[in-house]
Amino acid sequence: MPPKISKEERIDNLAKGRATAEANKQARIDEYGSARRTPMQVYQENPTRTKAINAMCYSCNGEENYVSRTRFCQIFDCPLWKFRPYSKGITQEQCNEYEEG
Ligand code: SF4
Repeated sequence: MPPKISKEERIDNLAKGRATAEANKQARIDEYGSARRTPMQVYQENPTRTKAINAMCYSCNGEENYVSRTRFCQIFDCPLWKFRPYSKGITQEQCNEYEEG
């Protein structure tokens, strides 16, 4: 059982956590110009196969509507199609029905 801490300590820990999160967010903004990193930046920091697939789909679709375009990608003969992000449970029929808008 974890040691009991007082209510004041919990509030203090919470405030420290929030301050750290805010500092990390500001560091990302300073480094990337945005609080969120792109899939390409995520891949470049610590490359893995999954991150490489995400980065490839990102470079294929661009920033605008990236998630929807990737989820409903209609390039079925792409070797990455089955492995693209945001695609769990999405069928080819659903992709064919998707219209950007
Ligand atoms: S699965 Fe679609 S979005 Fe991803 S790389 Fe292939 S063609 Fe591009």
